[in-house]
Amino acid sequence: MYRKDVKKGETIFSYGEMGDCAYIVEQGSIRVEDKVSSQGSYILGPGKMFGEYGIVDDCCHYSIATAEEDSLLLVVTQEEINDKASGADPMISLFTTFFMDRCRSLTERHYGSGGPVSPVLSRRSNNAEGKIQANREELVQNFHIKEELERAVKNQEFVLHFQPIISLRGGFTSGFEALIRWDHPDRGLLSPFHFIDMAEATNTIVPIGDWVFEEACRHVDPFNRLAAEGGSPEIFVSVNISAKQFAVPDIVNRFREMAQRTNVDTSKIQLEITESVLMEDTSHAKSILHEIKDLGFQLVLDDFGTGYSSLNYLHQFPIDKLKIDRSFTHAMLNDEDSLEIVRAIAGLAHNLNIEVVAEGIEEREQLSLYRDLDCQYGQGYLISKPLPVDDVYKILGTRMAI
Ligand code: C2E
Ligand code: CA
Ligand code: CA
Repeated sequence: MYRKDVKKGETIFSYGEMGDCAYIVEQGSIRVEDKVSSQGSYILGPGKMFGEYGIVDDCCHYSIATAEEDSLLLVVTQEEINDKASGADPMISLFTTFFMDRCRSLTERHYGSGGPVSPVLSRRSNNAEGKIQANREELVQNFHIKEELERAVKNQEFVLHFQPIISLRGGFTSGFEALIRWDHPDRGLLSPFHFIDMAEATNTIVPIGDWVFEEACRHVDPFNRLAAEGGSPEIFVSVNISAKQFAVPDIVNRFREMAQRTNVDTSKIQLEITESVLMEDTSHAKSILHEIKDLGFQLVLDDFGTGYSSLNYLHQFPIDKLKIDRSFTHAMLNDEDSLEIVRAIAGLAHNLNIEVVAEGIEEREQLSLYRDLDCQYGQGYLISKPLPVDDVYKILGTRMAI
């Protein structure tokens, strides 16, 4: 959107002209002479929109717009609308395309012959029909997946596996990351790779996320009881929270209620968030994260190094730990640049009093390197794969020789 000054008497667009924007009057007044409807000629003042046919694909204007006085306009471009429509819920997208197409064909019918019919009019209807078809298919497919995911929540088809996170100082288990799996009735045990993106796209991630959170909370006490019997330190459980869950208006209340319902010691629950949560609306994110911290939860920044990775914003947020993404762990033994990045992240975290969790440790050398860099925690297949809950009980209280 941008502003445009127009002088009294200036023509903004003419009858039959192709357009690629619509206008909102900010100051002044505009005369629109409508050649199609019975409205004829009328004046629009501040806040009113005109020329909206200009943002319908390949469509021409059916009126003449002239400035009645010196005026200021806000120009809404077709590109901007298309951008927003493509990111919208498929239902809204379908509705908009359908509605625009309906408006256009009504207008064309109203015209009959002799109107300002542009040569692109016939091509246009095919475009719109294609778009509607694609939108409709996506909508129906999403609807089925959404139904299936909702049914899976109701039928308790999801399970949590827990991957140990050890202290790189003592080798004992410090906590577990809860990782969801779908025990699908026909397809067997599915990893999140097969469904998390769709759960996010259909917003089913909200009820699924609630289930994960409560289920993880329920394991904190039994895990800790067993660890204490074996003489091990306290155990935390780390839960992945999607950015979509953060967009739910009463997210803090939901966390509070779930913590109360499960009677969990909130200091033993960690919320793993990604940088996208921090970057979308910084001040909003900041206040929500502080409220979550006030409830006693710990905050972990996941996949660090893969996103915006702007190191200088970190101190603004109440982050307790950051997880160095496993792509760095994988690359750092052979690639000097990756090693330098890991060194810089570890150094920065130390200075900011943020603890470091190294992800994706598969080799002894990686573990030693992280220990030398004084990173506090390690996680990866070398230590253990994610385990079904029964197996967790077998390893609680044990210690890895590091
Ligand atoms: P993530 O949060 O980065 O989780 C770590 C992933 O790395 C897990 O994959 C884990 O099994 C895998 N991993 C652990 N150690 C190693 C290793 O040494 N080498 C390699 N190559 N991989 C390792 P998983 O369980 O398939 O989860 C994938 C992603 O799905 C997670 O990545 C997370 O973004 C998402 N996810 C999992 N559970 C949940 C959940 O409950 N809620 C949400 N919103 N997302 C989840
Ligand atoms: Ca994670
Ligand atoms: Ca991660």
